[in-house]
Amino acid sequence: MLNNKALNGEKIIVNIRDIKIGIDNRPIIIAGPCSVESKNQIIETALSLKEIGVDILRGGAFKPRTSPYAFQGLGYKGLEYLKQAGEAAGIPVVTELMTENDLNIVSDCADIIQIGSRNMYNYPLLEAVGEINKPVLLKRGMSASILEWIMAAEYIAARGNKNIILCERGIRTFETYTRNTLDLSAVPIVKKKTGLPVVVDPSHGTGIRELVNPMSRAALACGADGLMIEVHLDPQNALCDGQQSITLDEYKSIYEMKRKIIISPTSIH
Ligand code: PEP
Ligand code: MN
Repeated sequence: MLNNKALNGEKIIVNIRDIKIGIDNRPIIIAGPCSVESKNQIIETALSLKEIGVDILRGGAFKPRTSPYAFQGLGYKGLEYLKQAGEAAGIPVVTELMTENDLNIVSDCADIIQIGSRNMYNYPLLEAVGEINKPVLLKRGMSASILEWIMAAEYIAARGNKNIILCERGIRTFETYTRNTLDLSAVPIVKKKTGLPVVVDPSHGTGIRELVNPMSRAALACGADGLMIEVHLDPQNALCDGQQSITLDEYKSIYEMKRKIIISPTSIH
């Protein structure tokens, strides 16, 4: 069974520049498009989000798509545009690393390295990000149990890097109305077991734009340390995940909600 040694439940705060993730009642927001589509798109998105209020910009350069014929992201060019957008807005950025070959270039461009749902079981990749000192956002595998997810984090921490943020992004169940079933009960469990900060991605967690706001509220109410939300300037024409992407106006109401509420979730014992 579970044998987590490096992550033993002792609270870990992850620092990204002046942002602290994991402080009680101080949830952060990561927002941005599913993928970087052009230089203008990502810079305009970054500046608009910054104006409303955001902590970290997201944007995929390498996209793990189900179909090899779907848009795969802009690759290295996308990384560069994301970095420029973060600099223009003065905010840190997070992007996905898909292969160890790109570890250096992704860690040069990004403040946080994302390990996507499909790679949660990629142990060599987990070990590679464990060897460096960059914060890692580890998404839950879409069919991973809570213990498998915790042990994936342990793979990273065992190599020395405990700057890990866990991300609940929904799991596969018999339900097909939603893209995934957002398992919020995992949030207090993994927080307590690992001591790591946990953020929730209601965009992939539901796949439905209208559900992003209510599930963001629910995530904060159960003690999530932050949200990761897909926002697009023009969701209808997004190259990836438009149906779950919210507009800037919709984002604004989630940001306002987060700013107003102080939530004190009851911790589990
Ligand atoms: C993403 O966040 O862009 C993504 C691909 O998510 P996931 O790995 O959770 O499917
Ligand atoms: Mn997406």
